[in-house]
Amino acid sequence: MLKNKTALVTGSTSGIGLGIAKSLAKQGANIILNGFGEYAAVKAEIEALGVRVGYNGADMSKPADIEAMMAYATTEFGGVDILVNNAGIQYVSPIETFPTEKWDAVIAINLSSAFHTTRLAIPSMRTKNWGRIINIASAHGLVASANKTAYVAAKHGIVGLTKAVALEVATTGVTVNAICPGWVLTPLVQAQIDARAANEKITVDQATKELLGEKEPSLQFTTTEQLGELAVFMCSPAADNVRGVAWAADGGWTAQ
Ligand code: NAD
Repeated sequence: MLKNKTALVTGSTSGIGLGIAKSLAKQGANIILNGFGEYAAVKAEIEALGVRVGYNGADMSKPADIEAMMAYATTEFGGVDILVNNAGIQYVSPIETFPTEKWDAVIAINLSSAFHTTRLAIPSMRTKNWGRIINIASAHGLVASANKTAYVAAKHGIVGLTKAVALEVATTGVTVNAICPGWVLTPLVQAQIDARAANEKITVDQATKELLGEKEPSLQFTTTEQLGELAVFMCSPAADNVRGVAWAADGGWTAQ
């Protein structure tokens, strides 16, 4: 379905971004990987699916790096047809002691990076009259939790960005949507589970059950494969008129 398309997935060396990159590759899309993790093995694994794979190590907190990455995508792949804004970090602290540099980093990586990639991707998508922008927001793009001010602000921000850009391109073949996962067991969440286990002097298994029980009625993690398939749907003709949505995949978290 996605043969001859190129997908740039930011933060795709692990977790959700990697899951989405694999699902898009299975549909025939060429993939541009990005992220700080080890990428050679990931690149080889996706290449084995029969698509072209590139890597650009842009730091998503740096607009100049993002501009260089988008230029690389144009030169090497003829532009970005599917842009998945996924790179993200978390920082947990009460606001009184929230380090200002952590606030700046969370906003830069989780929100401003998507502004930069999007503004640079839209012109060629408009020319081709086809494009997909998928922003990985979060249940925290729809509701809040204490001690995650920067993350919640960035994720609510990216839901707003999604809607505004979707309207700007509403009469074209370019769609812009957000996916709002609940808990997904990736390195980002494992770090929070490990911190909870250490703080409360409980086992990692108990901490995992507590984490799910607190927010997620299904008591199950959403998987990276499920999110990959949701992204594939958003790239399909069936989703041609799905515009500006914030699609929860959160086990009922935001239905409460
Ligand atoms: P992860 O830590 O597994 O992956 C994050 C990716 O972003 C990695 O590839 C990392 O190298 C990359 N990254 C981090 N900082 C970067 C930077 N400055 N420049 C470039 N790349 C950078 O985390 P994940 O859980 O897969 O998270 C992916 C996205 O999904 C994030 O936006 C996160 O907020 C969102 N999300 C995660 C969950 C969850 O439960 N895991 C839930 C909702 C939303």
